[in-house]
Amino acid sequence: MLYTPDKVNLHTHSFYCKHGTGTIAEYVEQAKAEGLTLLGFSEHCPLPDREYQKGNRIDYPDLPLYEADIRAEQLKAENKDIKILIGAECDWLPEEKSFYEELIQKRNYDYLCCSVHHMYDPVKGKEDFLGRFTTLPLDHLREYVKLYTDALRSGLFTFGCHPDIFLAGYRRWDSDAISASTDILQCAKDCGIPLEINDNGLRKRPITVEDGSTRQPYPVKEFWLLAKEIGTKIVTNSDAHRPIDVAAHKRNAFPFAEQNDITLSGWELDTESKLHIH
Ligand SMILES: [Zn+2]
Ligand SMILES: [Zn+2]
Repeated sequence: MLYTPDKVNLHTHSFYCKHGTGTIAEYVEQAKAEGLTLLGFSEHCPLPDREYQKGNRIDYPDLPLYEADIRAEQLKAENKDIKILIGAECDWLPEEKSFYEELIQKRNYDYLCCSVHHMYDPVKGKEDFLGRFTTLPLDHLREYVKLYTDALRSGLFTFGCHPDIFLAGYRRWDSDAISASTDILQCAKDCGIPLEINDNGLRKRPITVEDGSTRQPYPVKEFWLLAKEIGTKIVTNSDAHRPIDVAAHKRNAFPFAEQNDITLSGWELDTESKLHIH
């Protein structure tokens, strides 16, 4: 079954991550009202053996509840016109690879998507969300590229989330930014994995960059123009944290893509509910 980009959102959070709102059922309802026919839940994945970024993701003991909630929505007769997938947004932590494999192999998740959200902030003396960095040191830029490309090469992920989030902190489009972006985009192309224009970044407050101009923290136009040039497959998702935003990408990211003459890819779902980029 083929799905055009206007029918799909594969990046959805809920009350389970504790910084989102809305139940699984409320999202399904809203997605149907907005004309989506393929909805994937990608809750921030917990880890079994440590409390990584606790308070910003599902509590590990709640994972079966999240799964059961989605399975119940999949079975409801009134949801026959929408395909509902279970997934997770996984922070790339190489030591957790076997747990992520378990999600696919033992817990039958339909897909996983990868992110690098947090890095050590030397100014604050602690790990912080990349979207909150106001300057990103060069060694962080290199570390980000390594983490992100390792995630893409792991073979675990169906798409990469907000790959340009590092540009929220790295606020100049110089040769280092171009080189970092090229490495990520080329790697995604070589691995055959699409990258996501993340609508949540378009819904955030603009930031002032080093040349004095303002832009969204992400997505960043120059990054995506480079993606087009390299030939990386590009998708878009809402990254909804409340039901009303489940199809917000159709209002923001679609015009962003159109203004930059970017073609968005659709998805194909095979008979085993596995996604393939189209
Ligand atoms: Zn994310
Ligand atoms: Zn997300």
